[in-house]
Amino acid sequence: MKIYLVVGSGLFGSVFAHEAAKKGHKVTVIEKRNHIGGNIYTKEVDGIQVHQYGAHIFHTSNKKVWDYIQQFAEFNRYTNSPVANYKGKMYNLPFNMNTFSQMWGVRTPQEAMNKINEQRQEMAGKEPQNLEEQAISLIGRDIYEKLVKGYTEKQWGRSAAELPPFIIKRLPVRLTYDNNYFNDDYQGIPVGGYTKMVEKMLDYPNIEIKLNTDFFDKKDEYINNFDKVVYTGMIDKFFDYQLGELEYRSLRFETEEKNLDNYQGNAVINYTERQIPYTRVIEHKHFEFGKGDKDKTIITREYPADWKRGDEPYYPVNNERNNDLYKKYQELAEQQDKVVFGGRLGQYKYYNMDKVIDEALNLSRNLEEK
Ligand code: FAD
Repeated sequence: MKIYLVVGSGLFGSVFAHEAAKKGHKVTVIEKRNHIGGNIYTKEVDGIQVHQYGAHIFHTSNKKVWDYIQQFAEFNRYTNSPVANYKGKMYNLPFNMNTFSQMWGVRTPQEAMNKINEQRQEMAGKEPQNLEEQAISLIGRDIYEKLVKGYTEKQWGRSAAELPPFIIKRLPVRLTYDNNYFNDDYQGIPVGGYTKMVEKMLDYPNIEIKLNTDFFDKKDEYINNFDKVVYTGMIDKFFDYQLGELEYRSLRFETEEKNLDNYQGNAVINYTERQIPYTRVIEHKHFEFGKGDKDKTIITREYPADWKRGDEPYYPVNNERNNDLYKKYQELAEQQDKVVFGGRLGQYKYYNMDKVIDEALNLSRNLEEK
């Protein structure tokens, strides 16, 4: 039996803790927030599961992960089909025949392709120098201006003409009337919320959970007192930013209770014009098909924000500078024989939930062999 410390009760830490406990190891999970679950945390308000740190839709094509997660929750059949609001006109997403029909009145895939190709001509023979040109070369000006430009500029806090082209590598176009955002085989939301799912993972006699506990209050003591530390916090912070600071984008959430049954008719509406400062409005009850109090609904406006030390680091900015810096931190991490780094902050990567589960399962398998 080994004694593990898991720093962070997000999905990575919780899957790892579960697997280690199942194999008979003793696990202490410390969490600096006052709740478990990390960013997938949901809180019940008016009978509605509120996604406290942004909308989370589980989707995967990894059958192993999908089968694994079923033991902790029953998943509903929620399918992500966001709608864009541009200056009051509604467009289906992702870009598909519904969108093209709403944009141009076209009806067939051939008509849509003709229109897109005609619009892409604007960039014919030119090498895109920035995100704006890249997007126009992929999808044409109409869709770029109405559905991409403002949203992307809000996300990055900069004009599209100043952003590098590589941010948008592809803009998939779907020539069917299919509003399902993801191409994955499996998709859904855990009935009763993500927190309940994580509670079930951590419900083991040999797992102890300590909330409101920051690893950095007793870093050396923790490392000395445990056989192994699985650290899912920020990698640069672990090393006291000695090589410099990795950059992130942050978010601000504004949540409001409304005395209405149904505010916007969909879980996710994107606001794609620059003038409206938020990017999305989430109406949480639609993730569970209207469950909750009949005359109440909870909405959250999502505002992209610059990040500075102390803010919540939501999205890593994986540009060349940061990726190079991360590699140097990774070299330091490899020299730590008692500490392993996992999850989106420990590995400085945007990971979807399925990938996080897969990585945590790989780690728990590897550790057992040591
Ligand atoms: P986290 O959830 O961040 O967990 C890390 C935990 O460590 C946190 O609880 C933190 O408080 C704790 N911690 C950090 N430092 C310390 C410390 N010093 N001491 C103690 N505790 C510490 N994925 C999808 O698959 N579908 C989606 O729809 C989706 N939507 C998303 C929307 C947003 C806005 C964001 C930001 C992410 C989204 N994701 C989505 C990704 C998903 O959130 C991640 O895959 C997942 O939450 C990562 O889990 P984690 O354990 O690595 O990190």
